Amino acid sequence: MISLRVAVASGKGGTGKTTVSTSLALSFASEPPLFLDCDVEAPDAHLFLKPTFERRQEVGILIPQVDEARCAHCGRCAEVCQYHAIAVLGEKALVFPQLCHGCGSCALVCPEKAITETLAVIGVLESGPAAAGVHFARGVLNVGEPMATPVIRQLKQWAAPQPGQAVIIDASPGTSCPVVESARGVDFLLLVTEPTPFGLHDLRLAAQVGRALNLPIGVVINRDGIGDNGVAEFCAAEGLPILLRIPFDRAIAAGIARGRPLVEICPEYTARFQELWAWIVEQTRQVERGGA
Ligand code: SF4
Ligand code: SF4
Repeated sequence: MISLRVAVASGKGGTGKTTVSTSLALSFASEPPLFLDCDVEAPDAHLFLKPTFERRQEVGILIPQVDEARCAHCGRCAEVCQYHAIAVLGEKALVFPQLCHGCGSCALVCPEKAITETLAVIGVLESGPAAAGVHFARGVLNVGEPMATPVIRQLKQWAAPQPGQAVIIDASPGTSCPVVESARGVDFLLLVTEPTPFGLHDLRLAAQVGRALNLPIGVVINRDGIGDNGVAEFCAAEGLPILLRIPFDRAIAAGIARGRPLVEICPEYTARFQELWAWIVEQTRQVERGGA
């Protein structure tokens, strides 16, 4: 049985993405989901889902090293590197580990077999049971490491769902490589925004990412009531359904600041998240039937 995968994303941090993703995960009446915290630069979903970590694995990328005794300084490694992480200057081949994505292309093309690769640890994967039977897994990028994408990619491979188990992904914020890697391969993209001009700006960019990945998109408006109608008008014009509105409420904000999930602060949201999930399931089935 195929697992339904939903990524919860936002154009920037601080919009309530984790508030939504964690309460969605806690709302399953049966068969709790697998929850992946892909916000590897600042993971915080554990504060709400309170996992007990039972498995741990380091994540690394293979960084090339050039054996100068074998190197003919032909420059092919530098030509093939898309990230300018290796350069050949005269009689010297230089590797810039901070730019390297560990793709292995330079070692493959080296005609002299002068390149070996060593594993550089950049983060860790952790998983275990969490509140309400949710199976929790997260990636944590080491402080100072610039490459979030390999950690996210390996987390998604490492923490596989049971057959038919739903997967909820708390995506990296923003609209660059980490969020693309978080959302790649999912069935539905849930975008969390707030009804302000800044929220609208970020929603536009996040929706472009979703469209580029050819994903169906739904919107949750958080802190509803604080701004204007720009987000609602944009959603109407773009055909993006608004699946949930969470009003601005000081009691909700205070509870979340203390690490309480939204569905614990306001239990009536459990049914709302269940309706939202049922809508996504039905929408996904319709897309599958349409594509069959
Ligand atoms: S491809 Fe190999 S031989 Fe050529 S410059 Fe790079 S490391 Fe040296
Ligand atoms: S492994 Fe890939 S990214 Fe790193 S230096 Fe080689 S070609 Fe460039």
